[in-house]
Amino acid sequence: MTDLTQLTLTEAREGLAGKQFTAVELAEAHLAAIEAARALNAYVLETPEQALAMAKAADSRLQRGEGGRLEGIPIGVKDLFATEGVRTTASSRILGNFVPTYESTVTSQLWRDGAVMLGKLNNDEFAMGSSNETSAFGPVVNPILPANWNAEKARAALAGDKKGLLVPGGSSGGSSAAVAAHLCLGATATDTGGSIRQPAAFTGTVGIKPTYGRCSRWGIVAFASSLDQAGPIAKTVRDCAALMTSMAGHDPKDSTSVDLPVPDFEAAVGRSVAGKTIGIPREYRVEGMPAEIEALWKKGADMLRAAGARIVDVSLPHTKYALPAYYIVAPAEASSNLARYDGVRYGLRVPGKDITDLYEQTRAQGFGREVKRRIMIGTYVLSAGYYDAYYLRAQKIRTLIKKDFEDVYASGVDAILTPATPSAAFGIAEMADADPVQMYLNDIFTVTVNMAGLPGLALPGGTDAAGLPLGLQLIGRPFDEETLFSLGSVIEEQAGRITAPRWW
Ligand code: GLN
Repeated sequence: MTDLTQLTLTEAREGLAGKQFTAVELAEAHLAAIEAARALNAYVLETPEQALAMAKAADSRLQRGEGGRLEGIPIGVKDLFATEGVRTTASSRILGNFVPTYESTVTSQLWRDGAVMLGKLNNDEFAMGSSNETSAFGPVVNPILPANWNAEKARAALAGDKKGLLVPGGSSGGSSAAVAAHLCLGATATDTGGSIRQPAAFTGTVGIKPTYGRCSRWGIVAFASSLDQAGPIAKTVRDCAALMTSMAGHDPKDSTSVDLPVPDFEAAVGRSVAGKTIGIPREYRVEGMPAEIEALWKKGADMLRAAGARIVDVSLPHTKYALPAYYIVAPAEASSNLARYDGVRYGLRVPGKDITDLYEQTRAQGFGREVKRRIMIGTYVLSAGYYDAYYLRAQKIRTLIKKDFEDVYASGVDAILTPATPSAAFGIAEMADADPVQMYLNDIFTVTVNMAGLPGLALPGGTDAAGLPLGLQLIGRPFDEETLFSLGSVIEEQAGRITAPRWW
């Protein structure tokens, strides 16, 4: 039998429907691949028993002709989604022993539709980071090899200090690496400032951050509640659309989830884009942008033009304030959300001589450096005397950023095309200990979308001279993810897929 892990989600679904293999065989193939890829560190917890039990149940439903949309499809879950009875850590020591008694809405909808859980995926601690290097479980290795590396050199590095191997992006680095390495057919992820789109761009995979309110946040460990959204990372645009159709929907348990019908997103894949107007925002042509990124961007526009879309220049004048404003708003909300980790209610508890000491010891030992940095920044910008100067101003900028997009869409633009990231994937440890602001610059093209609450799709547009994937980003109107899937499938058809040969 061919290697079932090489299939796309859509191909696997057809194979299951055509009885070419069973859900149990599909799960077993993936479990074996996960075991053989442990050194990549994509999974922080493998759940083979659940996987096989769920696959068995899927097979009986398929047999009876009762299969759901994702019946028998094995997926990985970012360790930010609460999974009932299955350890959920947010890749933090402070939640190292946390076993939720409830299931997140998004994952429960995936199981409702027949998906099979393979395990929990690594991420930056509390989803704070752009390289997966802030994880308490250590870095994840991008299965895409640096240029001129052969398998032998890569295996030696993997067994050693991992220097020179690439990061898979973050914070959803386990999700992107697992999809790229064929360790699942799709993965859940979250995006507060780029954590779905940047990892997708770094690994040659496809990821979508839906409109704020499209998916329920219930049962997802909160980072910055006004920015957080769940979404999928998968091998193709169609696979993403299939996963999102299950993940989306109104949930009374999240008052910010929107009561709108969920379209069949897959139906938008391959739909004509003739006559669509695509905006190219001039402010995204940032200083120092590598020529290869600029060329990719132009190539993306040419592909859409060839499919009948109209390309126009647009202006989003407040773009340059988005990154500084994000790095005020996001830490502010994080400092408030993370106050709940006190060593009393759940997770790690480090005893102290009194209750204050217990809080201090627990938080000092439980949180990593980047999370502490965010809590300190967030507490500072919210404190009396500084609130007006920082937090309030950042919120005003946020309103202006949102208005920039509204003006562009009001002028008849259907979607906006930008690069997803300012560079290709960088090396492990290359940036981690440098100036944190350097790491934050990764998010320059993605944070605007969260600040405005819009949907954003990232997908491979090509490779750089070294053969590394480069991502394009399509930004849509609120709740118009369908147009993004249509446009994305046009680019995918012309740019092709980027896949990593197995070397580990
Ligand atoms: N890299 C950004 C940050 O560190 C975004 C993270 C995310 O989207 N969760 O805040």
